[in-house]
Amino acid sequence: MDQLKELREFADQQGIAYAANEPLKKYTSFHIGGPAALFCRPADQAQLAGLLNFCRRQGVRSFVLGMGTNVLFSDEGYEGAVISTRGMREEIGGEGDCLTAGCGVPLNRLCQAAAGRGLGGLEFAYGIPGSLGGGIYMNAGAYGGEMKDVLEEVRFLDEEGCVRTLPAGELGLGYRASVFAQKPWYILEARLRLKPATADQVQKKMEELLARRKEKQPLEYPSAGSTFKRPEGAFAAALIEQCGLKGYRVGDAAVSEKHSGFVVNLGQATCEQVLQVARDVQRIVQEKTGYLLEKEIRVIR
Ligand SMILES: Cc1cc2nc3c(=O)[nH]c(=O)nc-3n(C[C@H](O)[C@H](O)[C@H](O)COP(=O)(O)OP(=O)(O)OC[C@H]3O[C@@H](n4cnc5c(N)ncnc54)[C@H](O)[C@@H]3O)c2cc1C
Repeated sequence: MDQLKELREFADQQGIAYAANEPLKKYTSFHIGGPAALFCRPADQAQLAGLLNFCRRQGVRSFVLGMGTNVLFSDEGYEGAVISTRGMREEIGGEGDCLTAGCGVPLNRLCQAAAGRGLGGLEFAYGIPGSLGGGIYMNAGAYGGEMKDVLEEVRFLDEEGCVRTLPAGELGLGYRASVFAQKPWYILEARLRLKPATADQVQKKMEELLARRKEKQPLEYPSAGSTFKRPEGAFAAALIEQCGLKGYRVGDAAVSEKHSGFVVNLGQATCEQVLQVARDVQRIVQEKTGYLLEKEIRVIR
């Protein structure tokens, strides 16, 4: 593909690392996904913005990948450029009650930084294995908290290639939803507003929540966390269990025995097997309970 050749040349000129035909399964928590035609590793926000602007101008299909903990790539891979924010050199800054960080910063690292500075409010995110960018895109949440509660503003690249900043209230943040899933806008960095607390209190709460995760979630298997969103008035895992689907399996993709809300990869699961499990679960749950489960994981083909 000529456009990808041009993108490689651009990356060479800018000193941006990349690899051709890179298996995406190496970069997803599901351990699933065929090769990306080009896998780019920007080192900082300037390189990330440069790549995204080049792709937009030249019409190169592109996808920004954070920690890959909420995505399911197809077995055929991705015909275009996957741009990974993992490994970007990014500092955590801020003053007073605020923390600022780049999109590639892992949420766990951000939580530790908050604890270290005696700032509370982000404890809910400890143990969510994603990046700040992925967390904002998904409005990730757990244990009664969500990114929306702590986000003050986001700096992003818009569809014209302009860098803009918007306050959290204008980002369409809702249950596992944000404007970034609706528009071709890319998160560069964000500012969080937290609350003063003692470092010990924050650390203790984070450890408690992590222990609850370890107890309830099948962390011993690759997955992308909860496969389905919580339907209004019910819990996906409870509905799935109620329908007798715990352990339901297609090939190596299965509804977890430990937490029915998770589809896990028992070994060599393919994207198609995960999707088949998800389709069967959706159909059976709807037939038996009337609830239509919507997928939370992002399927990328
Ligand atoms: C074991 C496990 C437990 C989990 N627990 C939870 C939980 O408790 N709560 C919860 O909400 N989620 C949970 N998740 C899901 C996942 O960790 C979150 O959705 C997380 O926020 C995704 O971040 P990521 O960096 O991995 O994003 P990715 O999976 O890499 O990407 C997700 C989406 O975000 C987009 N994106 C990423 N970075 C950017 C950027 N800079 N600009 C624009 N778009 C971007 C991607 O294009 C993609 O569409 C869990 C997952 C696992 C595997």
